[in-house]
Amino acid sequence: MTDDSKLIAFIDALPKTEHHLHIEGSTPWNIMQVDDPEMFTEPPPSWKDDFRFKDFSEFERLIVNNVVPWLNSPERYGITAREILMMRMKENVRYAEISYSALAIERSGVDIEEVAVAIKAAIPRGIETRLFIGLHHNPLETDHEKHLLEILESPHIDGIDLHGPERFPLQDWIKEFWREAKLAGKLAKAHASELTGAIGVREAIEELGVTKIQHGVQVIEDESTLYMAAAEGASFDVCPISNVKLKAVPSMSEHPIMELEKAGIRCTINTDDPHIFGNSLRDDYLAVSKELGTTPAQLAEFAKNGFETSQMDEVSKRSAIAEIDTLLKNYMAEQN
Ligand SMILES: [Zn+2]
Repeated sequence: MTDDSKLIAFIDALPKTEHHLHIEGSTPWNIMQVDDPEMFTEPPPSWKDDFRFKDFSEFERLIVNNVVPWLNSPERYGITAREILMMRMKENVRYAEISYSALAIERSGVDIEEVAVAIKAAIPRGIETRLFIGLHHNPLETDHEKHLLEILESPHIDGIDLHGPERFPLQDWIKEFWREAKLAGKLAKAHASELTGAIGVREAIEELGVTKIQHGVQVIEDESTLYMAAAEGASFDVCPISNVKLKAVPSMSEHPIMELEKAGIRCTINTDDPHIFGNSLRDDYLAVSKELGTTPAQLAEFAKNGFETSQMDEVSKRSAIAEIDTLLKNYMAEQN
């Protein structure tokens, strides 16, 4: 076995989590192509390693034009969720947090609750999953209040996430809704400091009381926010390949995940939108390992963070972490 193939085997064997996955950005290409071969002739150009989006709007247009018209029924949301979770299970993912977008739902005219029911029914056995709904910074164009109430009352929606282009300072309705959702027992997270500097993480923590940050990478630009986030016990669900292709970071070799971890922020590694980026979870672990010189012990730490910050029960968390420790020990012993 070459060193590369040993490392890949180690990454594949690690019990892992996926904390940051958008259903709209994960629609499985193989299913779409079989379903509509004329529309989906070849994968998006953004699958190429050297592809960079010009800006976030170009990325959003790809989702809106390519995916939203196809995701036009609760059944297709269910099919997508099932397929992507099955793919993650093959990568030894034991726990997943997936989200769907209220804005996409509004555009395609399907029902929020029916979609939640379909997704929950489609989750395969063997992967513990939490379902989040993503809201953009601007209110929904139709029946905004009605939809918010529906989200609070849904037994199928486990949590809320703040999606879309970042616009800080936060609007008042967001602060109010995140408060209400937490009171209603929903989990709460937010995309922040992906593309608009450190302010997002500061606002998410101070204004929303959210410490489970999606991306958060640009917090590195401001030391006081970085250490505040660490002191508040924040965890960042980072998506390295997405960060490079969307230019949230200048390059993979300059990705701050190691600095964030060193500052005391627990980071996890995730895929974000595999339909758009063409990535597997292995690709993201491997990219971090190759471009940042991350050791297998540190990769194991990222995998452990995923369990530590999950909603799994303590016994399941400890058992996955013990498994990771044993794998690492055996891997290191083989190297010596
Ligand atoms: Zn995301």
